[in-house]
Amino acid sequence: MENQRSETVISFDQVRKRYRNYEALKGVTLDIFRGEFVGLLGPNGAGKTTLVEILEGLKQPDSGSVTVLGKNWAQDTPFLRRRLCGVLQETLFINKLRVEETLNLFGSFYGCPRRRTGEVMELVELTARRRTFVEGLSGGERQRLALGVAILNEPEIMILDEPTTGLDPRIRHDTWDILRRLNQEKGATMILTSHYMEEAEYLCGRICIMNQGEILTQGSMTQLLKKHCDGEVVECRTAQPQRLEAIRKHAQVLEYNVNEKEGRVSMLIVNASSFISYLLAFTQKEGVEIGELVVRKKTLDDLFMSLAGRGFHE
Ligand code: ADP
Repeated sequence: MENQRSETVISFDQVRKRYRNYEALKGVTLDIFRGEFVGLLGPNGAGKTTLVEILEGLKQPDSGSVTVLGKNWAQDTPFLRRRLCGVLQETLFINKLRVEETLNLFGSFYGCPRRRTGEVMELVELTARRRTFVEGLSGGERQRLALGVAILNEPEIMILDEPTTGLDPRIRHDTWDILRRLNQEKGATMILTSHYMEEAEYLCGRICIMNQGEILTQGSMTQLLKKHCDGEVVECRTAQPQRLEAIRKHAQVLEYNVNEKEGRVSMLIVNASSFISYLLAFTQKEGVEIGELVVRKKTLDDLFMSLAGRGFHE
């Protein structure tokens, strides 16, 4: 496993991309190793899609380079086409074809033997729907069919661009389990873009947090939390957030954020248990009413707020 991990399969080196006067990628450098499940996580506009489109050879960087399996798109297109596949948010299919026929058709493009269709249907859990017309599939089943098409020729690298956007949470989990199996059992290197924190947390061994064309930080979930998420979050609601303002001077308060609209104050605290008694005494003395007092561990969402100065979903 160690050896496998140390084999670099994708290497971005100082990749820049500009659209007119907007710099979508500001010199991204990133190595991805064989068998990894890497998440590119960031809010809309962070540059995730631009980066994966460059990886898929669909866009050219303005400067910098991308090496995939030791090759590059300019010289080795057929080689890379056979080894990479992408799964988009939505894939167009022929509605009047059945699941099995669709996989047979795509399989014929890749020169796959017919038996591969059966294997793939098992992997993406569509065997029971083999005779169903594409137009009769649910959103989750369509996305599993797209995954099935993508894995027909057993790609070494899979690029998943927001693969579960628009799916309901339960179906999203089913898709995650399939993706995880493809990574763990088939050894495919997976690159996932997502704006769902929990998706990256569930699937990815390494998470790269992106914002405005840059990777702000990266590591496993545990590493990120250890590195950036010391302390606990204390949150409360109040109709008078400005009257809590003075509390930010307390030595335990590492960060202090107010959402005026929602009347929510969120504080990063060194040690919440000792701080709570101070907070309650303070609010009592000042006559500030608070509600929904919550103490919780710091999450990736809080981490993004600390790094980018704004909430992930703002
Ligand atoms: P993400 O996938 O993280 O949402 P994108 O890579 O799609 O980010 O976009 C990054 C930024 O580049 C966004 O501000 C987006 O509006 C801009 N952008 C993306 N594609 C184009 C394009 N073809 N022309 C102009 N601007 C673009």
